Amino acid sequence: MTKVAAVILAGNAAEAERQARIALGRGADLVELRLDGIAGLGSETVRHLAKALGERAIATVRSHGQGGESREGRAGRSSLLREICGQRFAYVDLELKADAEGLDSLARAASRHGTKVIVSHHFTEAVDVHRVSEAIDACGANGDVAKVVLPVGDLGGAIRLVDLARARSDGRPRPLILIGTGPGGMLTRALAGSVGAEIQFASWGRAAAPGQFSLSTAARLRGREPIVLGLVGHPLEQSISPVIHETALAALDLPAVYLPFDLSPDSLDGFWLAMDRLRIRGFNVTHPLKESVAQQVDEMDADAERLGAVNTVVVENGWTNGHNTDVYGFRVSLRALGLRVGDRRSLVVGAGGAAKAVVHVLLREGASVQLTNRTIARADALADSFDEPVAVVPMKDLERLGPWDLLVNATPIGMKGIENRLPVPEAIVAKAAFIYDLVYNPTTTPLLLVAQRLNRPGTSGLDMLLHQAAKAFELWTGQSAPFDAMRRAAKEALR
Ligand code: NAP
Repeated sequence: MTKVAAVILAGNAAEAERQARIALGRGADLVELRLDGIAGLGSETVRHLAKALGERAIATVRSHGQGGESREGRAGRSSLLREICGQRFAYVDLELKADAEGLDSLARAASRHGTKVIVSHHFTEAVDVHRVSEAIDACGANGDVAKVVLPVGDLGGAIRLVDLARARSDGRPRPLILIGTGPGGMLTRALAGSVGAEIQFASWGRAAAPGQFSLSTAARLRGREPIVLGLVGHPLEQSISPVIHETALAALDLPAVYLPFDLSPDSLDGFWLAMDRLRIRGFNVTHPLKESVAQQVDEMDADAERLGAVNTVVVENGWTNGHNTDVYGFRVSLRALGLRVGDRRSLVVGAGGAAKAVVHVLLREGASVQLTNRTIARADALADSFDEPVAVVPMKDLERLGPWDLLVNATPIGMKGIENRLPVPEAIVAKAAFIYDLVYNPTTTPLLLVAQRLNRPGTSGLDMLLHQAAKAFELWTGQSAPFDAMRRAAKEALR
């Protein structure tokens, strides 16, 4: 079974020992002692750490050239490693390049002391799979375990590494650790157990490498067939869906991870073809892929079919089922707020995908809908896509209309990083009884601040987001979503 190693980054030996003991008590099989970060490291400290933790520790002196903090010259490094290899650790990490000269004798010394030798190589940039293969061979020829690490820029790169690791583990006894770093490489970590990796490196406190799982996530996956879930679209950095779903998976102790798949429309086909062998069981879809995914799924629920947009896909035995849980999220949030919209007057601002989901719900609940948008032709097209009447109103005419029972902002205005202003003038806000801003980051938008000042009740899009996430979670896992925990995690992420 793949062992989970918590990476201990501490500035001194006493702190490293203390952190290591806690991590071992919290489910790590091993600790990787990053000795390169320890100030004034000498023989005595090495001996002490070996005695205190050696049987469950990997001793690593990561050189500066390989992304570590050690700036020892050749002689200093070689003497430090001789000292380490003369002690008993579970593993020692030797570097293919920095330790090339003494590799043989260091490895022999380590073996004599019952220490397994990892020979590692870290590429500083993405390289093709043949070079990765050559590095695996070179590392494997000199040690018990080959470890090769490289940045992964896109999904294609991650898929090639997973395929390589799987091919290498078939019929080859020499253990391997093949890691893609960065968000794109998280897939290689998620599937580490299923491709037979010797060790899964996990973060303890600060991550030692981008994309590393926390110890609790890595421990949750250990020895279990992983379920891969995720978010497909671009860009994804601002999304809080990974935090919300990770919290839910952890709360129910499910052997699953939720990963970001940052895809352009032309890489969607590659993702689709690889889904099965990547153990992907479901995913959310965000901008700009909701419509493309709707074209690609095998089957859709009624809401997704009606809107021609999918934001959640369930994958079962190669069959893809598309859902639109934005519709569900908005509908349920109205109920949770106690907002009855049947026969009431509503104004929706915006004419994109979110506005379409909102208009769909409002019409089905029996509300009358007026729609406004910066580009009026887009509002016309949205209105025309419904059988029920939707009145399209240019922004400049809003002044002489109203009042409304509900005003919904379905534009990104007010969102972090987007224009910090009102989507409609304050005089229009004043004519609405309830203000619903779909923007959830921040949860207090300029629109909601004005609503507060005008003494109007209102809500951000957070509840809609949480209800859609809970529904997606239930579709993927068949289990009730831990809603309160998801809400707490979202609020924390948005602080
Ligand atoms: P979209 O398809 O890109 O549509 C954006 C809409 O906003 C369009 O009508 C666009 O007008 C308008 N717009 C954009 N920038 C504008 C600006 N600077 N001034 C005036 N109008 C502007 O996006 P979407 O998917 O519908 O999402 C819209 C918002 O809803 C986003 O902020 C998103 O975060 C939020 N949302 C929230 C949830 C939730 O669960 N809370 C779910 C989905 C979406 P034009 O037609 O003139 O370009």
